[in-house]
Amino acid sequence: MLTGEKIIIENGKPKVPNNPIIPFIEGDGIGPDIWRATQLALEGAVQKAYKGKRRIAWKEIFAGEKAYKMTGNWLPNETLQAIREYVVAIKGPLTTPVGGGIRSINVAMRQLLDLYACIRPVRYFGGVPSPLKNPEKLNVVIFRENTEDVYAGIEWASYTPEAERVRNFLVNEMKVTIREGSAIGIKPMSPFASKRLARMALNYTKARGRKTVTLMHKGNIMKFTEGAFRQWCYEVAENEFGEDTVLESKLKEMGGKVPPGKILVNDRIADAMFQMVLLRPEEYSVIITPNLDGDFLSDACAAQVGGLGMAPGANVGDTAACFEATHGSAPIHAGKDKANPTSLILSGVMMLEYLGWNEAAKLIINGIEKTISQKTVTYDLERQMSGAKLLKCSEYAGQIVANMG
Ligand code: NAD
Repeated sequence: MLTGEKIIIENGKPKVPNNPIIPFIEGDGIGPDIWRATQLALEGAVQKAYKGKRRIAWKEIFAGEKAYKMTGNWLPNETLQAIREYVVAIKGPLTTPVGGGIRSINVAMRQLLDLYACIRPVRYFGGVPSPLKNPEKLNVVIFRENTEDVYAGIEWASYTPEAERVRNFLVNEMKVTIREGSAIGIKPMSPFASKRLARMALNYTKARGRKTVTLMHKGNIMKFTEGAFRQWCYEVAENEFGEDTVLESKLKEMGGKVPPGKILVNDRIADAMFQMVLLRPEEYSVIITPNLDGDFLSDACAAQVGGLGMAPGANVGDTAACFEATHGSAPIHAGKDKANPTSLILSGVMMLEYLGWNEAAKLIINGIEKTISQKTVTYDLERQMSGAKLLKCSEYAGQIVANMG
């Protein structure tokens, strides 16, 4: 391991030394292959951009199968502690243990580290096979709430004493009708979690110069949860970002035009939103959504631009951030040096942007754009592109580095 210094959070922002220590989890299945490729691309870009003035001191930490083999624990405490201590981490996909005591390592990490926003930028890279005629029109960044909603896992199985107890309370005290033997799940949504997500997304929108923020929800039906989510997010836009935003509902008074420099804030019902990203994708830019809606929308959008292998992700809180591939560990391709590393490499790009190392981030984007436009790609894209040249995972990363300059 190279020597380095810790990133710290100062006044709510990361303060990054020139040689930050960054923990990584290589991940299970295809994880080691795509991690090696990612490391190559990140180091190549940092070297090219800063000529040795900046470099990353990697520190391996463990989770998933590798951790279980070493310690008997899928998610050791030391791993969580390291992410807290070093603020920024990057991880490959982890296989979910079947029948183990832990529901999902990924979900556990998000909850235990309070990484409350799942950020997924989805854009098109020219030449990637897509089912759409104009996939390049979609360029959105989805901010999905990560800690609440039915996704929080507060649920009781059918006919258990716990479910019966909850049902008895609801039927007898709250006077609602619930069928006998029902499984019951709880959908908590708080002003605290909704507002901090909106705050992060609006700050991001301002910093990136994006022009539209859309609140996606199912508040017409779930009025007191998703409807309230909508309301709380609007309150943040109006009360905390009033100078920067204009609400769609007020546009008429302004002659229907968004004043220059202002961010348009609107909301859409979740089912309509799924149509919108297909039919009028260019009208959407930053999308803020509750947990479950966001899970569905992220994958649907990724499919529009060529699938999960191409979409990056980050789980970000106020004191730590973990950047990760959005696909799973694809165990059937493990160790074959054939998987597509783009999702993890692009997650690395998000990490560089979080550090403020935008020059290196741009170099990688250029490298990916050029490599794909040259039709030199991994198997998953090669089999769908005519005249493409098949590269191994490591060769593809090497090509990205060669194409950066
Ligand atoms: P998966 O994403 O691992 O694989 C589904 C299929 O997609 C694979 O068979 C493969 O053909 C293709 N694929 C996925 N990533 C690819 C890549 N980078 N390059 C080329 N092809 C790729 O989904 P799964 O099979 O449902 O899950 C496998 C394991 O991963 C499970 O244990 C699951 O729980 C876990 N998982 C982890 C994460 C995460 O760590 N964030 C996310 C999803 C699933």
